[in-house]
Amino acid sequence: MPVGVLPTTPAQTSPAPVTPEAPVPAPTEPVVPVTPAGPTDAEILGLADSTNLSSVGYPWNGRYAGVVKRWTLPIPVKTNGEARAVPAMDAVEAKLGYVIFDRASIESADEATITRGIVFRQGTAYLPAGGNPQAFCGNVSDAPFSGGWSASMLSPGELTGRIYVNLDNPQCVADGEIVIHEIGHAMGLATHFKGFGDDDAIGPEFWPVLATLYANPIGTPKASVVIKQIKN
Ligand SMILES: [Zn+2]
Repeated sequence: MPVGVLPTTPAQTSPAPVTPEAPVPAPTEPVVPVTPAGPTDAEILGLADSTNLSSVGYPWNGRYAGVVKRWTLPIPVKTNGEARAVPAMDAVEAKLGYVIFDRASIESADEATITRGIVFRQGTAYLPAGGNPQAFCGNVSDAPFSGGWSASMLSPGELTGRIYVNLDNPQCVADGEIVIHEIGHAMGLATHFKGFGDDDAIGPEFWPVLATLYANPIGTPKASVVIKQIKN
């Protein structure tokens, strides 16, 4: 036999034992977060400051600057039969984790007699002359078809009065996210920010900013605000 050549092994003729096929594990992938991390506490405080605490812009106009401005809960609501109000309110309560709205006490009340609460109306969105109807699909104000907000709705530093959520104009129907966005305005988010109208109607920043407002008593100064993180 030549050096270096090994004798061949006879081929195995008996059948190999049958074993169940084991699932082949997929190659391990690096872990990539499916959703980006939400805003940091500092970002939430900054956004809450810009839209509420600082009182910059409408409708605060400098009043009660530097402190939390919001409703005392629960907020009475008259839906006026507006079906979109219900899932929107449900979503807010699910995210914040407690009852926000009193859905009974003024539901059947004559609007004119309502002195405190949110009233939904359909077809009454404020549409200024020359305005893009798609950009004015809903708004919050002190009257249907109005873009205004009475000074008396902030007294003292507490949101109160009869506040309208106006949905739709003849050329735009508000979707579910717009309805939640308008409820956000009615609850005390004023100027838009990233995650609230600057891009989408509601985004990842919306929920923790809203939750933070309601996690702190009316009048809480910025330095004492406790941040409430809410993940999407
Ligand atoms: Zn808005």
